[in-house]
Amino acid sequence: MSDLAKAAGQEWDVIVVGGGITGAGILREAARCGLKALLLEQKDYAWGTSSRSSKMVHGGLRYIAQGQIRVTKESVQERERLLKEAPGLVNLGSFAMPHYEGKFPGPLAFGTLLNVYDFLAGKRAHRFESQTTVDHNLIPGLRQEGLKGATLFRDAIVDDARLVMRTLDEATQDGATALNYCKVASLIKDSGRVCGVVVNQGENSHSIAARVVISATGAWSDNLRKDVGQEPVVRPLRGSHLVLPAWRLPVAQACCFMHPDDKRPVFVFPWEGATVIGTTDLDHTTSLDDEPVISAEEVEYLLKAANSEFPSANVQREDIVSSWSGVRPVISSGKDIDPSKENREHAIWDDSGLISVCGGKLTTFRLISREALEMASSYLPGYTVPAVENNAVLFNSPETPPDDTRFLALGADLQNRLSGRYGVRLPEMLVLAGDEDFERVGVTDFLWLELRWAAKAEQVKHLDDLLLRRTRIGNLLPDGGRELFDRIKTVMLNDAGWNESQWQSELERYQGLWRQAYSI
Ligand SMILES: Cc1cc2nc3c(=O)[nH]c(=O)nc-3n(C[C@H](O)[C@H](O)[C@H](O)COP(=O)(O)OP(=O)(O)OC[C@H]3O[C@@H](n4cnc5c(N)ncnc54)[C@H](O)[C@@H]3O)c2cc1C
Repeated sequence: MSDLAKAAGQEWDVIVVGGGITGAGILREAARCGLKALLLEQKDYAWGTSSRSSKMVHGGLRYIAQGQIRVTKESVQERERLLKEAPGLVNLGSFAMPHYEGKFPGPLAFGTLLNVYDFLAGKRAHRFESQTTVDHNLIPGLRQEGLKGATLFRDAIVDDARLVMRTLDEATQDGATALNYCKVASLIKDSGRVCGVVVNQGENSHSIAARVVISATGAWSDNLRKDVGQEPVVRPLRGSHLVLPAWRLPVAQACCFMHPDDKRPVFVFPWEGATVIGTTDLDHTTSLDDEPVISAEEVEYLLKAANSEFPSANVQREDIVSSWSGVRPVISSGKDIDPSKENREHAIWDDSGLISVCGGKLTTFRLISREALEMASSYLPGYTVPAVENNAVLFNSPETPPDDTRFLALGADLQNRLSGRYGVRLPEMLVLAGDEDFERVGVTDFLWLELRWAAKAEQVKHLDDLLLRRTRIGNLLPDGGRELFDRIKTVMLNDAGWNESQWQSELERYQGLWRQAYSI
């Protein structure tokens, strides 16, 4: 019997639709509270926006600039919490904002914003550095004309897809069930009230009952809300990124500056040993069922940004290793305004028992998830979402740190990285590993051990699940990792039980997808 058929044979307290960070967060909180919870994702976990963000866990300087102090405070507190609970997965990052003569933002105005930022975080963590220090020590290669200096501040960086996996894993350890490649086709209603979902798989259609259904389908939210008579509200806005080898544009910190054409903030930042340029913000008009793809105009826009700020780098199209695009789940104001002027706040609705949550950001996923669950609790008599206790951890660690000598030989950074990504699963992973599995995958910080673990234990159904979300090899290595396909094949045959013909068709699928949506 398939996992889906087994799930259909049970009655659930909560069905969560959508396996991005919001759905994962809701599942985590629901399971922690003892609810019987099932998550269904139409494609792969984090396939939606949650593997395609700019990877920043941040307070959101734009919120302070707009006077939204409460939102900034919550974001900064969540950032601090994630840094504390998931070190190695969420890491402190250094950020720099260069200042130019007569250009916005000046050091004084920016410093004032950061004073508030630091006050809310309870730490002073910014400083201004002069033009000479910036040029000689901090950000060599930065445009010199009119450069006054730069403000350095701190925020955090995450692997967003791994944050989803870690959150799902914590939920399943608490008894929840999560299934990928299970698309909710429609809702079941009883006297007009939503009481379950229908999932079609192959020839079979499965009806699954629940006391409440929560849609955490982000940019896809309108689809299920249509089933309960609601008008569309989402304005899907695409943001794209380019990945370069670090040596082509080496940066030690995330450098934020204004695009010369439209004065939007753009980042050049170090990520996973590469340099990333991002992002854009424009209406996404192609089908949400397909992978979002960077346009030629976006490539030019991002290259222009990087080359105007780092003129001597002279980055060309040929330098680009890969790209990725994501769609922001933005609630439309209904006005004909510039995409960047749309509000990025999340919204939660209750439509005849379908709770839908849409918008927001990675950083505050725990708070958004709790809010959605609170609204759902009116359909769960006898149940209330417990108040936030300061010591209620989101992520657990192994009771005793692993003492495998091969793990210890990796050094503190890689140990920390693995602990942050795999939490209490780490000891099991290490048992699985042969000595050769501690080698890095190409020039990346991923280890072969991680591929083997994903193939065995992380519901990898397609090659792109493994190379674009469980790991980022597809974005970090030339041609999506082509040089390593033979060894990856061995992993999939041995650990995932694939056969030769399955490997061949998966390889074709992956290469087609990579050419279409992850190259330029
Ligand atoms: C370019 C870009 C940069 C960003 N940068 C940042 C950043 O640096 N920091 C930050 O905090 N935030 C950032 N964000 C925002 C953040 O990424 C999103 O807010 C967050 O990932 C949304 O998560 P989600 O779970 O709500 O949606 P998603 O991750 O999109 O998850 C929704 C899921 O629902 C699934 N689904 C849809 N319909 C169905 C169905 N019928 N049945 C089953 N499953 C279904 C989809 O496949 C999808 O996986 C960025 C967003 C973009 C686009």
